Amino acid sequence: MRIKSFKLIFLLIVFNYYFFINAFSNEHNFLAIKKTWISKDNEIYTLNIDFYDGFDFTPRIHTLSNGLKMFLSFKRPISNPKMDYGNHGIVKGYFFEKFGESSLMFVMAFNKNVVFTKKSYTKNTIKISFKAVQKPTIIIDAGHGGKDPGTRSPYVGQMEKNISLVTAIELRNTLLKTGRYNVVLTRDEDKFVSLDDRLSIINSSNGSILISIHTDYNDDSALRGMSVYTLPDNALSIWEKQGVYQDNLKKSKRFAQYLMDYVPKFCKIKNKTCRSGDLKILKNTIPSVLIELGCISNKIDSNLLLSKLFREKAIYAMLYALDKFFKTSNR
Ligand SMILES: [Zn+2]
Repeated sequence: MRIKSFKLIFLLIVFNYYFFINAFSNEHNFLAIKKTWISKDNEIYTLNIDFYDGFDFTPRIHTLSNGLKMFLSFKRPISNPKMDYGNHGIVKGYFFEKFGESSLMFVMAFNKNVVFTKKSYTKNTIKISFKAVQKPTIIIDAGHGGKDPGTRSPYVGQMEKNISLVTAIELRNTLLKTGRYNVVLTRDEDKFVSLDDRLSIINSSNGSILISIHTDYNDDSALRGMSVYTLPDNALSIWEKQGVYQDNLKKSKRFAQYLMDYVPKFCKIKNKTCRSGDLKILKNTIPSVLIELGCISNKIDSNLLLSKLFREKAIYAMLYALDKFFKTSNR
């Protein structure tokens, strides 16, 4: 009996000593993690990290722009962070990684693009909620094609149908590379697609916006520049008066304005204009713009349109405008 008590007291002393040292070192050097887990409520996922001690700072969160990775940096190292985690719904995995000399980074990778819906920190808990985002589908319409060559440059002999196709494909590749968009093309080769067929692709593809790509032609060969067309207000009253179309036109104009704001930041195109035109391709069920990349009837523009660098710049203006459009619109 006595011996047993002694043993117990001895064990208690050792345990307390160990605990004290451990707690002491935690307080001054380490953050001790109690538990890390992911909970799910409908489509919302929450990362929970429980700490033994309270932490006295706000962890910094960084995310990759494509929303596929999250980094959480702590100013202090974390003790024993063996928390590797496998595939779970939209979470590809997470792990802790040493970051610099004295801090640690929590890295979480996602299978889908995510948006963060809530972040909360209490004395010893971090909760970060996120959900998968539905990627918007961009419909890219390369004007003309096949037996319909569109306009032709008097200087370089190039046809509109080829410039619109190469630009559409380059735009598709750029958008896909961001991971933020799905893309549907109305044509991806040199073939004739009627306006009605294009419209049925546009109306049935669950798209978020249409970008139709053309080049302009003007009898005055001195005229240059890029323009973007949306439907005129009066086209609506003749064609369709329902609310959704009004809303789409408003969105189309907003996107056109963003585009024209970004264009001069990327390309030294001389004129840039927002216009309205009663164009059949724009009469569909989603927000829509038609872009005349430049005037094929002008020598300088003709050469620009054949330049991959110019097209790249125009495409970046489109990408920036799309990013802004989807950031500001409640899809
Ligand atoms: Zn055209």
